[in-house]
Amino acid sequence: MRILFYDTKTYDRDSFCEALPKYKDVDIEFTKTELDARTASLAEGFDAVCAFVSADVGADTLAILSEKGVKSVLMRCAGYNNVDVEKAKELGITVKRVPGYSPEAVAEHAMALALAANRRLYKAYNKVRENDFSLNGLMGVNFYGKTAGVVGTGKIGAAMCRICNGFGMRVIAYDMYENPSIKDFTEYVSLEELLARSDLISLHCPLMDSTYHMINISTIRQMKDGVILVNTSRGALIKTDDLIEGIRLRKFGGVGLDVYEEETENVFEDRSDEILENSITASLLSFPNMIITSHQGFFTKEAMSAIASTTLQNLLDAAEGKVTENDCT
Ligand code: NAD
Repeated sequence: MRILFYDTKTYDRDSFCEALPKYKDVDIEFTKTELDARTASLAEGFDAVCAFVSADVGADTLAILSEKGVKSVLMRCAGYNNVDVEKAKELGITVKRVPGYSPEAVAEHAMALALAANRRLYKAYNKVRENDFSLNGLMGVNFYGKTAGVVGTGKIGAAMCRICNGFGMRVIAYDMYENPSIKDFTEYVSLEELLARSDLISLHCPLMDSTYHMINISTIRQMKDGVILVNTSRGALIKTDDLIEGIRLRKFGGVGLDVYEEETENVFEDRSDEILENSITASLLSFPNMIITSHQGFFTKEAMSAIASTTLQNLLDAAEGKVTENDCT
């Protein structure tokens, strides 16, 4: 079975080549090209394509993949909001993903962002490099004894609840479904109550119509002054213009984003030599209480190895017509 692996980075190739010997009948061709409607025809003769969060796996792309004989789309990530699942079903293309490769990888990064934003570590690092040993602008708050509000308590959100509990924080959460594994130390509340009570808010729910722009000026106004907001889930959970308005209203003690609305063009690209047009990222980074990373929450050795083996197993399962919890279709 042959996979065309889109948008390959060196670390993808390394982790998949390491896992490949266990999957004797699978062959992978790696390309740096991103998957979208213009590049889908490259997959002619392949059984499956492998794509990531920044691919455009919309209706047009899927129609071309189907025409070229591709039977499976293997998403090497948890989120699949960039895939037109209904169209895939209609075309008989199986879409599988890697739902829980290492929840702790993302949750630990969420806490790292919260701490970095709170204690302005990015500023401190640069100050000391410039022999500026003053503490101006670096004051944070203790997390110990404060309230952490976790929105979405699936695999990653639950890991975040455990971390916050370990920090000695009171943990409250909002989800439509209560996760029994964290019930001993987590109080489920309504979203309104979470917004009003939390000193740290961390978003861990998927991007769907119902969660699109869930953080907007109205929900921001319901938050406590000085709140720390972290998003490691999907950029469009937060309406960026409203976040900027909220920052200007002095609402936030700190904001840490691993994902943001205009990230698609940027994700995993070195654009340091380009002049960017209308960059929202640049506006966000002009604020002293903001830290942004580029979708690196998942990026640990353990997670990359789990992504490779699960993706390859997904291909075998798809070929055998096995429906598993990794199915999106
Ligand atoms: P999951 O499916 O295990 O959990 C998602 C939870 O969100 C579920 O419990 C669900 O009930 C809940 N939910 C759905 N709608 C909600 C709403 N309106 N309000 C509150 N909760 C709601 O998913 P997960 O593995 O924990 O991943 C969460 C998200 O993290 C993914 O959807 C993905 O977008 C993101 N993610 C980011 C990275 C990264 O590198 N930054 C890596 C992996 C996943």
